[in-house]
Order: sequence, then structure tokens, then C-alpha cells
Amino acid sequence: MKVFKFGGTSVGSPENMRSVMNIITDGEPKIVVLSAMSGTTNTLVEISDFLYKDLKNDARRVISELKDKYIKVVEELYESEEYKAKGLDIIDTHFAKLYEQTEGEFGATMEQVILAQGELISTALVTFLLNENGHKAELLPSLEFMRINADKQADLKEIKSRIKPVLEVTKSEIYITQGFICRNIYDDIDNLQRGGSDYTATLIGAAIDAEEVQIWTDIDGFHNNDPRFVEKTTRIDNLLFSEAAELAYFGAKILHPLTILPAQEANISVRLKNTMDPSATGTLISNKKTTSGLKAVAAKDGITAIKIRSDRMLMAYGFLRAVFGVFEKYKTSIDMITTSEVAVSLSIDNDKYIDNILEELEEFGDTEVDKNQTIVCVVGDMASEEKVFAKNIFDALEGIPVRMISYGGSQHNVSILIPEKYKKATLQKLSDNLF
Ligand code: ASP
Repeated sequence: MKVFKFGGTSVGSPENMRSVMNIITDGEPKIVVLSAMSGTTNTLVEISDFLYKDLKNDARRVISELKDKYIKVVEELYESEEYKAKGLDIIDTHFAKLYEQTEGEFGATMEQVILAQGELISTALVTFLLNENGHKAELLPSLEFMRINADKQADLKEIKSRIKPVLEVTKSEIYITQGFICRNIYDDIDNLQRGGSDYTATLIGAAIDAEEVQIWTDIDGFHNNDPRFVEKTTRIDNLLFSEAAELAYFGAKILHPLTILPAQEANISVRLKNTMDPSATGTLISNKKTTSGLKAVAAKDGITAIKIRSDRMLMAYGFLRAVFGVFEKYKTSIDMITTSEVAVSLSIDNDKYIDNILEELEEFGDTEVDKNQTIVCVVGDMASEEKVFAKNIFDALEGIPVRMISYGGSQHNVSILIPEKYKKATLQKLSDNLF
């Protein structure tokens, strides 16, 4: 069995939903993971924010506008009165749930319940579309098997043991299920964080030992550079899991950063496909090394660099552990690290607790903070390019004020930290020099 995942744009209009139907009805059994229609989750976040601020009328206004949009979708999506009525019924049910949230106080699980409605609606609408067109398809309720643990991490063991009985009860050729949403250890509705539907797909893939996971979006796969900033980028045909994971984490927006992990552990290949051009091969991510050399460049903004300088560091042990302890205390993960004998620089992408962190770091030495930085990440097989990659990268960086460089954590990645305003120039220069 294969797992297919379609993002918000792929189910973003009745026309696109029909394209999805044509793609998934190729006669092969599959589980289809869907996002909410594009824009919906953002609107649901807006509704939840209004309720958090106790602006109930604003929340009701946005709910009513969103409901009107869905009524139009239903009118256009189905041919028959029977299915139009079924569609409207589903819309009524889920919007009643949204209105219900506007009645009481803002509760701890309210945001998650509100956010879940997007995927619950899109999956019901697409299942009806398939049924109306004579295809046997069943809804597979992800709230019955997707689980996160106490640390909010996906719990694959639980998912595995829960999905099998659900699949046995709902026998079908095509299963349609919700991406993103799950339940937590209290059995409350929760989610896998924004963009998490990709992650749902590979978790399901690993749980059922799928033949392949296909992620369908509106671009034709990973490119060797960011097409929004660099001219003439080309699609990459093959990537290793480790290369794709680096790219997804360091900014290539096409995949949720955690997506590769379950697939890599279970050795299930992931193919990125384009809904607008279904016959194109896309990018295949697997453990098979087909080409070597440098593959791609990606960039991640919103990075903060912190330098801690201390003479106490000289030939001392335990210093780094103490510094890292501060970040651990504030649940802030570190992306890049570089050290000299008397100073350490590191980067973080979440500066929520920066004031607390800096206050505690003062104890170890002088600190210096640079905000608005970008990590540019060069991905590929550096070992195969041993003699030239460093020269080519350094040559490309001429004229760029580099803040940090990190290589050696793996042989698949060189990370370079630069001020955000030099991003476009850096990406272009690397592209010109490396590919
Ligand atoms: N609908 C969710 C979001 O917009 C999850 C997803 O699309 O992957 O973040």
C-alpha cells in the first residue's frame, strides 16, 4: 500500500479536488492524507486568536465568512442534490462546533479543537466527491490513531498499534485521512504543528510499512536552490534521506522538517510530486546513492546568533555543558555551533526566552547577540567533492560578511550564517559557483 499526501493548495478549490480524485483513482490501494483547504488553517488561527482576546463578535464574523466560502465550495463540488445536501450537512456540523467555541471561556484545548476543523472538513468533502463519482473510498479518522506523547513528539509505537484495527474495520481500496491532527496523552485533540500533514504521511507510512510515501504539492520537487530568490534553478531527481532532512530543516519550504525521520528509520522512500503535472517524476528521497557531489542550497531566516566569551573556557572542561544546560532549561534548541579556545558562538531559531537565556549566560562570560541572521545550508556529498567544495564555497562567499561557518557535523552539510540582508546575493553566488 502507498501513502499519498496532498497539501492545502492541492485541495484548495473544487477544481483542484477533482484533480486529486483523478490522481488517486488509479486502481491501486492507498491511504490519502489531506491538509485543510489552503488559507483555512490561517483563518482558524485568527478565530482562535480573537477568542483568546475575548473578541467574540470578531470571531463570529470570521466564522460566518469562512462558512460562506465553504457553502460555495459545496455548491460547485457536487453534481447531485443528494451530495450537495451531504456536503452542506458536514459544513453545518463543523461550523456548529466552531460557533460552540464562541460561547464559553477560552479553554486550554480550544485552539486545537478549532484548528482541527479544517482537515476534518476537507477530508469529508473529498470522500463524498469520490463516492459521488462511483469510487469506493472511506474516511479513516486520524483522531483514532495519530498520537503524540507527553513531550508532544509523535508516538510511532502507539500509532502503529492503533492504526491496524482501524484499517481492518474500515475495509476499502482508498482511505482518506486527516493530516496534521492527532490526540495527546490526555486524549484531547492536538496537532503536529503547522505544516504537519507531511509528517502525518510518513508516520502512517512507517506505521503500516508502506511501499512508498508520495507528497503532492504545487511544485515539481526539491530544487537545487530557492526559486523565489535565484534564477534558473533545476529540480533534483534523487536525494538521500539525510540530504533531504537537512534541506527540509534548513529552509527548503517544500517539506515539514520532521517528515523525513520516520521514513528514513523505516527505509520507506518518499517521492515529491506535482499535482499540476502528475506525470513528472518529481524528487525521489531514499537511501540509494545515485549521484554524488553537491546537490542543493537552502536558506532559513529568523536566526539569532549568540556569542559567549570567557577566559575561563581556556583549557577548561565542563564549560560547554554548562552553557548548553541554559538552553536546555529554556527548551530552546541550538542549530549551529562554532568554538574557539575562548569563545563559543551558537545560533537559535526560537528567541522566545532570549532574555532569560542571556541573563543566565552572563554568569559564564560576556555575551553578544546578532539578530536577523540567515543560515545558508549547502547540501550534498562533500566527501566526493573533497578537493574542491571548500574552495568553491569560500570563493562564492567573497564580499559576504560571514558570521559563522560549520562543517563536519556530517559530510552532507556546510552551514553558513550571514546577515539576512545578504541572503539573495549569497544564494545566487553559491548557485553560480557550485552548479
Ligand atoms: N493545515 C495545516 C497547516 O496549514 C497543516 C498542513 O497543511 O500541513 O499548517
